[in-house]
Amino acid sequence: MSEEKTEEKIPAGNFIRQIIDEDLAQGKFTSIRTRFPPEPNGYLHIGHAKSICLNFGLARDYGGLCNLRFDDTNPAKEDTEYVDSIMEDVRWLGFTWDGEPHYSSDYFDKLYGYAVELIRQGLAYVDELSPDEIREYRGTLTSPGRNSPYRDRAPEENLALFAKMRDGGFQEGKACLRAKIDMASSFICMRDPVLYRIKFQSHHRTGDRWCIYPMYDFTHCISDALEGITHSVCTLEFQDNRRLYDWVLEHISLNSPDRPHQYEFSRLNLEYCLTSKRKLKLLVDQGYVDGWDDPRMATISGMRRRGFTPAALRDFCSRVGVTRQENVVEMSVLENCVRDDLNSNAPRAMAVLHPLRLVIDNYPEDREEMLSAPNHPQKEEMGTREIPFCREILIDQADFRETANKQYKRLTLDRLVRLRYGYVIQADSCEKDAEGNVICVHCTYYPETLGAEMPDGRKVKGVIHWVSARHGVPAVVNLYDRLFLVPNPGAAEDFLSTINPDSLTVAGNAVLEPSLREAPLGVTWQFEREGYFCRDVRHAGDPVMVFNRTITLKDSFGKTEAGKSPA
Ligand code: ATP
Ligand code: MG
Repeated sequence: MSEEKTEEKIPAGNFIRQIIDEDLAQGKFTSIRTRFPPEPNGYLHIGHAKSICLNFGLARDYGGLCNLRFDDTNPAKEDTEYVDSIMEDVRWLGFTWDGEPHYSSDYFDKLYGYAVELIRQGLAYVDELSPDEIREYRGTLTSPGRNSPYRDRAPEENLALFAKMRDGGFQEGKACLRAKIDMASSFICMRDPVLYRIKFQSHHRTGDRWCIYPMYDFTHCISDALEGITHSVCTLEFQDNRRLYDWVLEHISLNSPDRPHQYEFSRLNLEYCLTSKRKLKLLVDQGYVDGWDDPRMATISGMRRRGFTPAALRDFCSRVGVTRQENVVEMSVLENCVRDDLNSNAPRAMAVLHPLRLVIDNYPEDREEMLSAPNHPQKEEMGTREIPFCREILIDQADFRETANKQYKRLTLDRLVRLRYGYVIQADSCEKDAEGNVICVHCTYYPETLGAEMPDGRKVKGVIHWVSARHGVPAVVNLYDRLFLVPNPGAAEDFLSTINPDSLTVAGNAVLEPSLREAPLGVTWQFEREGYFCRDVRHAGDPVMVFNRTITLKDSFGKTEAGKSPA
């Protein structure tokens, strides 16, 4: 798998860069430290790629550092499988975190201590209202909340009750620790937010040591401060929570002039994709897709398995930019990044997805020759390869018609085409099965046309790809299309009903040129005239090779399966 350098710059002038520039100019910090803080409750998706490129990109561009921190405060949903996949995805995107990965759970002892600090100052209390009552007391956007009857307990009593919570003396839901802020605040998150809740649940790292777990808002800011984060960048839905972020840090002994600050940017939303781990997990759990890394999923692992490159994803994140404007990015933006990168860099090969036998009657049965083909049309340095040619070859079924109109630039009876990197041929006749399907085409080849025009000056109508029938390698090729039929599946009442039933078609009898027999994993090829393809890692050991279509050569969504419109 490629571990490339990440030289693309985040576009100058994004507002977070302006803030950092000012902070550095004013001497607030001498260097920056950012962090990427995923919750290990699912695989990362394209939205996370944006956050990764932003956080690691800022650290890289400013000569700073970026931490990877697993925000693992909810034992019910978290798992080490997710931890491992997240690390693999960040590395694959081309980024390196500073030191070891961090875990919020590493700070459970410290967090407990800071909660005690708040209690001692009379700024937190143990509440024994039920979760429903707490919700009811909280009020609404238009009406203030009400104080809990437990709000005015003395610090000593709260300390004892908090210890009792920690020691398992309360049932789940019977007590929680709340900050004492302002039940009438216009920011609902400031209406005595819950800081700790009871959960008798094993944690993937701390086991059964704790039965109380800190909430995100309490954990995140303290974890940032403990790690010396300078700029804590998150998505806009946390905008209001910034008040709480600041409040917590300002009221504990960790507070300092160079404490971290939170800045928000708009989430990435991408057409035809889900960017919610919860919904992606549903697709996996209910078997709609072949795992988190199904090539149709907008997960980083899915896009990797599909053959997208890290450079294309970084380019995409850079093209969409960083703003505070909510918007939905068109799928074509991502697809163009993938095509641009692959067009410049993917090695070329020939493969026939739906084979049709073609016999060159005037080519001797016992002869074979090697034809030379460049691995990339513009990049000589990528070298050439040899392709075997013989009397029987395979072409794509779509590349032959008995008769066709002038728009059809492929093989027809009595018309000339060139075999890519080979000879000019002319179709003379064809054989059909009982249903009238063409099963074999008989041709004549012109021996003097290798790298040369027809001697009689006749013009060739087109060029078609082919594979030697004798030497070709059989393969199964998965042809992927968009997983959803509507641009915004996440907004649908039932997003499962918007799944595209034709998002996967399988070309089960494909044949590859022999050089692909040794095709390594993690490389995406252009199969000439067909699109971009890579080997499926999940089927690396299968007796028959399996390839995934990364993307078609041109946008063909909603058109025919292979993006062809034969006349
Ligand atoms: P999800 O809703 O898919 O579970 P999340 O925000 O809960 O996403 P986290 O694991 O908490 O997922 O996210 C880690 C980081 O990635 C956070 O800083 C979050 O803001 C950022 N992030 C998540 N989704 C997006 C997105 N669509 N666009 C940009 N950043 C995102
Ligand atoms: Mg989250």
